[in-house]
Amino acid sequence: MMLRLQRPRRLQTSIALTATALVGALALTACGGTSSAKSSDGKLNVVASFYPMEFLAEQIGGDNVHVTDLTAAGVEPHDLELTARQVASVQQAGLVIYLKGLQPTVDQAVTQSDAKYVVDATAASPLVDHHLDEGTTGGTAHPSATGDPHIWLDPARYAAVAKSVGAELAKADPAHAADYQKNTDALVGRLATLDQDFQTGLKGVKSKTFVTSHAAFGYLSDHYGLNQIAINGVDPEAEPTPARLAEIQKAAKENGVTTIFFETLVSPKLAESVAQDLKLKTAVLDPIEGVKAPAKDDYFSIMRQNLANLRTALGATS
Ligand SMILES: [Zn+2]
Repeated sequence: MMLRLQRPRRLQTSIALTATALVGALALTACGGTSSAKSSDGKLNVVASFYPMEFLAEQIGGDNVHVTDLTAAGVEPHDLELTARQVASVQQAGLVIYLKGLQPTVDQAVTQSDAKYVVDATAASPLVDHHLDEGTTGGTAHPSATGDPHIWLDPARYAAVAKSVGAELAKADPAHAADYQKNTDALVGRLATLDQDFQTGLKGVKSKTFVTSHAAFGYLSDHYGLNQIAINGVDPEAEPTPARLAEIQKAAKENGVTTIFFETLVSPKLAESVAQDLKLKTAVLDPIEGVKAPAKDDYFSIMRQNLANLRTALGATS
């Protein structure tokens, strides 16, 4: 553990120095800008840790910011390793937006940087440990974290994070504070509509229980009165034991479960084999930890697809 902490710190210092020198040189030859917190076209440089944070930065920052995502599109964020260049980008960002407890390497880079403007999503919406919640089996997907990190899957919690992104953008770039306020209000409004559509859409479903391969939907379940059963919360790709399978089968039968959900960034094999054993259907429930086709899909379109798939699986009547 000590070795892992020490090595990047040394690396980061030398890279940061090199990059500072480079930016200084560029500033002299180009437009004369002095701050690396701004890109060459004068936009605020925002570094986001993974898709849900990137989406907030883009929606609220709009044309006034240049957003970089540390997690490439379509990549599982959990085990992210940062390159020296990415560590330097955190160090130099005009604003960093991350979710403490999801990606240890990002947490470490933020701690070691002296970035002035930082949003930690968990400060706006404190984490809950769903491991101990009654009715949620399988634990959370991230046992090393202090709590379940998947707050963005509850639109109300995500809206709280959006507000803190808006407030911090206004501090980091006060010249555009009015734009950030307007964009925050619009986004929070869209999230409220989404929340309302989930409330309405999940009213009167036949079953409240769903089975998923990844225990990512604890906050969503809490917010809408559903019950998540995770096949194997710790490692979405590990084979469940026969005893665990029997438990799931029993719970599925008792709760009228029709569908085993799997996610988009992990192989559906496990969910498919469990579904086959239990003679159930499979469908996608996307934890939106990354987006495969960002030109086509975004947070809202995927959440609406999740709602439609949940309604089908849970037997919505209206
Ligand atoms: Zn996850």
